[in-house]
Amino acid sequence: HKTLEVKNLKKHFKMGKGKSLKAVDGVSFDLYKGETLGLVGESGCGKSTTGRTIMNLYEKTSGEVLFEGKSVHERTPKEQFLLKRQMQMIFQDPYASLNPRSTVAEIILEPMEIHDLFTSNKERMERVYELLEEVGLNRDHANRYPHEFSGGQRQRIGIARALALDPEIIIADEPISALDVSVQAQVVNLLERLQEEKGLTYLFIAHDLSMVQHISDRIGVMYLGHLVELTSSDQLYDTPLHPYTQALLSAIPIPDPDIEDEREQVIIEGEIPSPIDPPSGCVFRTRCPFAMDVCSEKAPAWQEAAEGHQVACHLYDDKVVDPSERKKEER
Ligand code: SF4
Ligand code: MG
Repeated sequence: HKTLEVKNLKKHFKMGKGKSLKAVDGVSFDLYKGETLGLVGESGCGKSTTGRTIMNLYEKTSGEVLFEGKSVHERTPKEQFLLKRQMQMIFQDPYASLNPRSTVAEIILEPMEIHDLFTSNKERMERVYELLEEVGLNRDHANRYPHEFSGGQRQRIGIARALALDPEIIIADEPISALDVSVQAQVVNLLERLQEEKGLTYLFIAHDLSMVQHISDRIGVMYLGHLVELTSSDQLYDTPLHPYTQALLSAIPIPDPDIEDEREQVIIEGEIPSPIDPPSGCVFRTRCPFAMDVCSEKAPAWQEAAEGHQVACHLYDDKVVDPSERKKEER
């Protein structure tokens, strides 16, 4: 079932002189319980801001986020507080998010203390040891400080802290981007194992498609504050529809030279426009090799071009099956 529903979410930052930075400008997607949804795009595309606004770390500008059918934002402070047990975040740089003066045990204990879990310190410490083991560390690590650990181990500490409240959803904001390639796979494997054991739901944010390819059930591609395509990982790799996705995939080297790549190569040039002054119509049009007149006049709708495959691009306007039309055809 849908555990999280994001509906036309916008987050604009006021810039003065009446200008605003449209970091997230109308993003809609659902997150199904137990799945991993990868969210990718170049830096500045709004993927982190989307994650943070869902977590209510940023106040939304408009739109709606529902967790189990109930608004994430319109809650009493008490309800907000309780929601933190359900949704946790892990960050790119675990070092920056771990207090250097706290021991590992103190770091993991903190959320449990704030939320008053367990009746005794002894029980809480038992839980700390358990969590350390769950993330591939051990109880001897409990009294050490973050700087004594490698990047991969620090990310494990961050994951243990996120798990301390037994959340349903974890929003992972570039959790492996700062790690060595060999360590990245270990952290991804850990996240996958934890998901299986605990039935976790992940929103996995990354700037690179190759980083989310293996872990994601579905992938959403963002560009300049907009979600431009969303479908299953396989479908996205086999039949990418949006020119921007096609360009991202063209940039990934093909691992096996014996396999001929039948994907059309789409090369894009130029810089991402400023989210303070985005292009009219389709935000990708200034870099799109297929741009047409309509692309500067009208923003493409977020529509289903094939089953379970959403895209925002005028190239598919006439291919989109209107659900009412679909019924007529069936009759
Ligand atoms: Fe390119 Fe137009 Fe599609 Fe935008 S709507 S991606 S400009 S073809
Ligand atoms: Mg980011």
